[in-house]
Amino acid sequence: MTEQQSSATRFPVIVLFRHDLRISDNRALYAAANTGKPIIPVFIRDEGNTEASRPAGGARQWWLHHSLAALSASLRVLGANLVLKRGATQTIVDRLLDDTGADMVLWNRRYDPPGVRTDTSLKSELIRRGISAESFDGHLLHEPFLFKTGTGGFYRVYSPFWRALTAGPEPRDPVPAPRTLEPYHESMGSQCLNDWALLPEKPDWAKDFAKDWTPGENGAQEKLAAFLGGAIGGYDHDRDKPAIEATSRLSPHLAHGEITPFQIWHALKSPSLAREGRDVDKFRREIGWREFSYHLLFNNPALATKNYNASFDGFAWQNKADDLKAWQQGRTGYPIVDAGMRQLWKTGWMHNRVRMITASFLIKHLRIDWRKGEAWFWDTLVDADPASNAASWQWVAGSGADAAPYFRIFNPMLQGAKFDSLGAYVREFVPELKNLSDKYLHAPWLAPENILNEAGVVLGQNYPHPIVDHQAARQQALVAYANTRKDSPSH
Ligand SMILES: Cc1cc2nc3c(=O)[nH]c(=O)nc-3n(C[C@H](O)[C@H](O)[C@H](O)COP(=O)(O)OP(=O)(O)OC[C@H]3O[C@@H](n4cnc5c(N)ncnc54)[C@H](O)[C@@H]3O)c2cc1C
Repeated sequence: MTEQQSSATRFPVIVLFRHDLRISDNRALYAAANTGKPIIPVFIRDEGNTEASRPAGGARQWWLHHSLAALSASLRVLGANLVLKRGATQTIVDRLLDDTGADMVLWNRRYDPPGVRTDTSLKSELIRRGISAESFDGHLLHEPFLFKTGTGGFYRVYSPFWRALTAGPEPRDPVPAPRTLEPYHESMGSQCLNDWALLPEKPDWAKDFAKDWTPGENGAQEKLAAFLGGAIGGYDHDRDKPAIEATSRLSPHLAHGEITPFQIWHALKSPSLAREGRDVDKFRREIGWREFSYHLLFNNPALATKNYNASFDGFAWQNKADDLKAWQQGRTGYPIVDAGMRQLWKTGWMHNRVRMITASFLIKHLRIDWRKGEAWFWDTLVDADPASNAASWQWVAGSGADAAPYFRIFNPMLQGAKFDSLGAYVREFVPELKNLSDKYLHAPWLAPENILNEAGVVLGQNYPHPIVDHQAARQQALVAYANTRKDSPSH
């Protein structure tokens, strides 16, 4: 090694962690390890400025605390100490460069609009200063800035998007975790995770979350292994039944980057899954919806705040505060809706079918602006994701790309009877109805007085009357929709 080379290896490399809280298939970390230089892994909490990031909701903060603790432990085993800093990304990185003499900054790419803005300006500033700056893939199978239709635009419809993605080259192999990291011995003045107060205290509304979740990379790998060893056989058939653990529950792990879609993709090629062809294919397509959501968000940065389809701009929302509260608290009087909203509050997660039912109820039965629902989910979901949440809310509203038509209004009683036919889901999350017979479980107001008495249900006392009448609400929603279309300039 020449004198020049050995002095170059002494300058440390900064690796920025953001939504990629893992050590395996982390290309930025892997590249840093390959330089042989000392490594400074850093997580910056850049939440003061909403231009730089959308602040994490309460449930994600709970997850972030535990995920950072897990990442920090994994890095320590490899030889590096995770540095926690709070403030504007550029300012913190500048200070770290000045303090350490680092000449290289590496990270894995983000695709949410504030993340893209921050990282684009960071990269040009670093290059201007003569610092080596490089970013890597990992969060998505496709690069939204490269992936275009034949005419150079973006995909607005899922099926051609998915066809094009799967017709392309096979997703790259995951890269392994580095075996060791060259330590950087100077103290970096890391902040203390507990001082960030990410965990709720009075009240500790997340006290039951740990029963369902193990944040961190190990928890993610365990969830994947359990799913591939079990529920995947039957995924296509059972994924719409909320009482059964028939889906992977990988969403919060994916949202925090504790596992990558590349790792999932390659795990699905295991010969042991050869017999589950249809289920594997369906599961891959759901991963595809996540890709499509990011594709839409990247090409429509206002997806969480503006109707994708502007003809919805004049929609006559009712936005009644009491109705919003009843929905948030799971007290609408519609059992499947209430069960979903309570599952969300209790566990930080809700089954996909029930997300669709509860979102439809808010938007169509209560005529509350989908953005208020999106914001509540953002605050309460451990998997709250800037792309999937926004795209899904617009999908249900009918205002999104490739969306369900507005006039398709879910009937909560029929949805309940179809997808929770034995009532196990409603009985778990709405225990005051647990003794009601299947016949009336999804519409308790239709039950004769003696049946309600026997089940211990007193409508208006221990379980609410429906806050709206289904048929009337449906009619009003259709009228409001027709009026919007009449008024729309594009009609
Ligand atoms: C109103 C509404 C809001 C939603 N908000 C979010 C959100 O904030 N974050 C989020 O990750 N998902 C969101 N979804 C999508 C979906 O409900 C969840 O991804 C899924 O329920 C997660 O459970 P799972 O990991 O067991 O899914 P699985 O069925 O095991 O699917 C595997 C993975 O595929 C992806 N996926 C599955 N379905 C979808 C979908 N419809 N759209 C996008 N990606 C999907 C997820 O990453 C999921 O982890 C929302 C759906 C609706 C209707």
